[in-house]
Amino acid sequence: MKHSPVANIEFIKQVNTASVYRLIDEQKQISRVDLAKLSELAPASITKMTRQLMAAGLIKEVAQQASTGGRPAISLTCETEPFVFLSCKLGRNNLTIALHDIAGTKLVDYNVALNTAPNNDVIPFLLAQIADFINVNLKPDTQSLIAIAVTSPGLIDRESGTIVYLPKHNLKDIPLGKMLTKAFNVPAFIANHTQSLSLAELYFGAAQDCEDSVLLSVHDGVGSGIINNGKIFTNYNNQVGEIGHIRIDPLGLPCHCGSHGCLETIASNEAILKQVTGLIKQGHETSLTLEALTIEAICNAANSGDELAVQVLQRVSKLLGQAIAIIVNLFNPQKVLIKGEIVAAKNLIFPMIEHSVQQHALGSFVPNLIISEAEFQNEPSMAGVALVRKSLLEGGLLSYIINEHDA
Ligand SMILES: [Zn+2]
Repeated sequence: MKHSPVANIEFIKQVNTASVYRLIDEQKQISRVDLAKLSELAPASITKMTRQLMAAGLIKEVAQQASTGGRPAISLTCETEPFVFLSCKLGRNNLTIALHDIAGTKLVDYNVALNTAPNNDVIPFLLAQIADFINVNLKPDTQSLIAIAVTSPGLIDRESGTIVYLPKHNLKDIPLGKMLTKAFNVPAFIANHTQSLSLAELYFGAAQDCEDSVLLSVHDGVGSGIINNGKIFTNYNNQVGEIGHIRIDPLGLPCHCGSHGCLETIASNEAILKQVTGLIKQGHETSLTLEALTIEAICNAANSGDELAVQVLQRVSKLLGQAIAIIVNLFNPQKVLIKGEIVAAKNLIFPMIEHSVQQHALGSFVPNLIISEAEFQNEPSMAGVALVRKSLLEGGLLSYIINEHDA
């Protein structure tokens, strides 16, 4: 894309202001002198930018007692309380809406089953639920809403904020971002849930210490989010990392994608429940019962040595390992993080997954690879928090807040 010279200057200003804000955020408290040193920007520019950030209420001055005594130095720190955003997860069965402050701290959240949506029409339901949530939870005297993020499974175009295809809710080409901005008058961020969660692991979770990581999520399906060189690995179509449809067993069960033996037909929660149900019905000995069959129950049974549960989870782990080995060969990540109810049987599944990866991945890629639990197992709103923080620290959302103040 070509920018006019004026647009270029504006863009550079935006990037510089964002880097100054990011330093204050990282350092918690920092003087203007240190800001100039760390950012390598001229002191006069620092003065101007911090004045702008302060006028918008994004940062404030605090007195910092110098260790040598004498006159207290003035430091700058981020102002977190007045700015809040919503982070929503439109799941397969549930909608979660959470209110976070600008630093990402969760203030309150709310969960509702999607089968209560009139006519199974989830988009009007989502908009109505958000409106209600704002009415109940936002304090208009002291808080201002700066963004709404929505993450969901399915194919999402992040650039335009469009749900391209979400078969579970019968959604196709829904310009959700535009709809939210129109209804609530704030920027909106829409993205695939697992991809956004991999970014949350990078920013605040178990992948903070790496540049390259993969999040593998085992839920009703199996999905992945790939972080490459500290960025979400994606492409023009926003459609990558469909690990659930890697064919693991050519003679396996049919998959909803039209193929056979996809990882999802073996290693998703649904597939695990199906396998255990089949074995119980065949009369195999187990402490599990059909009436109370959940992934949690299967993990508990496996942890107490139930042979049937152990066998099923071992097979699942072995095949997950095979699929992970393919990802390892392609991306050579430092960490593979696993999210899903099955991590409740971690002492059983992780050694098996590791063994399988060792067998199938390139020998030189394996020694430094860490396979471990994802940090955010049950915090769906962290996915949207990552999207909002990304835009804030890269400058887009920050400029919006500054311009809103000027307007
Ligand atoms: Zn498939």
